[in-house]
Amino acid sequence: MNPKALLDHHEIQPRKSLGQNFLHDPGVLEKIVALADVSRSDTVLEIGPGTGAMTRVLAREAKRVIAVELDDRLKPVLDDELSPYPNVWVIYQDILTVDVAALLRPDEFVVVANVPYYITSAILRHLLEAPHRPRRLVLTVQQEVAERLVAVPNDMSLLAVSVQFFGSARIVHHIKPAAFWPRPEVDSAVVRIDVYEQPPVDVPDEAMFFRVVRAGFSQKRKQLKNALGGGLALAHQQAAELIEQAGIDPRRRAETLTLEEWAALSRVVAANPVK
Ligand code: SAM
Repeated sequence: MNPKALLDHHEIQPRKSLGQNFLHDPGVLEKIVALADVSRSDTVLEIGPGTGAMTRVLAREAKRVIAVELDDRLKPVLDDELSPYPNVWVIYQDILTVDVAALLRPDEFVVVANVPYYITSAILRHLLEAPHRPRRLVLTVQQEVAERLVAVPNDMSLLAVSVQFFGSARIVHHIKPAAFWPRPEVDSAVVRIDVYEQPPVDVPDEAMFFRVVRAGFSQKRKQLKNALGGGLALAHQQAAELIEQAGIDPRRRAETLTLEEWAALSRVVAANPVK
């Protein structure tokens, strides 16, 4: 049964506030799972199974599926839809409060999700900054967010640096609003993030790297020396000297820096203690 028929049958109205746009096109669901390269040895963490349409496809391909759904009104639907699949376990909880490290062993799982768009960045942070990271994530997100995740220098953002520090991100598919019910107002895209075993750049420590990156992006469109000075509570002159030591022109803006340049800057800041 398609999501609309299932929800009508259970007298449930979709909630916009929970990002409930359900994929009803079987071809698109199969395509997403194929793009995730799910195999019999994989444990999949699915965020927001909804009516279980993608969960069923995943259950056929994976060793097991752990699906985290916030909306417990969907329990009777998921109980029915997933009853033929003993390898699926549904947890009714907010994904942002799930302790992934307690649930899954490191490097042992992949994430596949048509994410609730209102918390895409928070989900990425929660999963990538956790002590146990997935091997890869295949996420259906708003097209505009997908473009931000795969941005290159000149268009970088705190989100892009944060994701690209942990993995290589690419857009692997585009999805039109008609593939969903109810139809969202925006186009969507599938982003695949293959998580690195080691960060691709040499940083003193992750916390310092992100402190510097956050400071750099703390004041939109300002020159790096002003943003970094403000963000790290340094005089602009001192900030400019540190940036120059890292081989970067202090008049540049945060969105133009490469990952390697952020790493170089964090090494210089770490070597010159900042309170
Ligand atoms: N996977 C289904 C599909 O592809 O049709 C549903 C995707 S729908 C875009 C997002 C799903 O995430 C909904 O089922 C919604 O209830 C759920 N959701 C929203 N916020 C959540 C949260 N904080 N934690 C877990 N699930 C959440």
